[in-house]
Amino acid sequence: TPKQPSNLSLLLQSLLEEARQLPEQGKVADYIPALAAVAPEQIGLAVATIDGQVHSAGDADTAFSIQSVSKIFGLVQAMNRKGDALWQRVHMEPSGQPFNSIVQLEWEHGIPRNPFINAGALVVADMLVSHYSASKAAALNFIRSLAMTEEIWVDNAVYHSEKEHGNRNAALAYLMKSFGNIEAEVPAVLDHYFYQCSVEMSCKQLALSLLFLANRGVHPVNEQSICSRRDAHRVNAILSTSGMYDQSGEFAFTVGLPAKSGVGGGIAAIVPNYGVIAAWSPKLNNFGNSCRGMHMITQLAGQLGLSVY
Ligand code: GLU
Repeated sequence: TPKQPSNLSLLLQSLLEEARQLPEQGKVADYIPALAAVAPEQIGLAVATIDGQVHSAGDADTAFSIQSVSKIFGLVQAMNRKGDALWQRVHMEPSGQPFNSIVQLEWEHGIPRNPFINAGALVVADMLVSHYSASKAAALNFIRSLAMTEEIWVDNAVYHSEKEHGNRNAALAYLMKSFGNIEAEVPAVLDHYFYQCSVEMSCKQLALSLLFLANRGVHPVNEQSICSRRDAHRVNAILSTSGMYDQSGEFAFTVGLPAKSGVGGGIAAIVPNYGVIAAWSPKLNNFGNSCRGMHMITQLAGQLGLSVY
């Protein structure tokens, strides 16, 4: 069981200040202008616990581009719609390759290694596009209902520049379509994927929205069943092996929590039976993970004894 600090908010505040003082580290994602323009020194930290409390520090109310963290929401939506059939079209193995790698796809006949690399998230997006008449609205509504607020939007500048710079994702999707693993038209699949990547959330919203994964699939605040207990376990398992890009092994080794990061600088870490930690700071390390976010989560998990292993 995690240690209960006498004052969690104070602990978050001191870890955040420590991370803020770290010597100049990392750089902001610059593959699209809208992300390159984000103020680099912003930093936020929030912890939501399954009793519904939210503690936070720094810029925890500032909305940022969730990017690949959105792959969790898409996966849960698709698992609910497709059941076990989903796993015929995407596997559950770590890739050992960069998130946007294309080489394995040819060897493995268009079946992506896991749902958290881009190829896997595109197959998931295809399932949602094929299922819903308005998949983008369904995705946004799902996220809003999990965060229990209507105040979540898509950043249009990010959305449009993702589309303009989406050649690699288009290549992944067309290659998979050639293997028969994309059903809808590729432009519609890409549109959905870029839309969900462009959702903006704050640390507080992100932590609240993922509490169901810390609570066996049940949203602890409104008691809604979001997914089965088995599926919550499965999502956490794949997060543990594949959620932190090519640093997933090291993250399991040093932190020991299922987690997902995105190139917007956000990281969400699930602490089963306890809560969710959401950290954000835009400057990224060489793996694409937020430098200060990694620091804060590593310190917090170490000090409270949160590792699941
Ligand atoms: N929109 C980005 C891409 O697909 C997301 C990258 C990420 O956060 O990993 O290239």
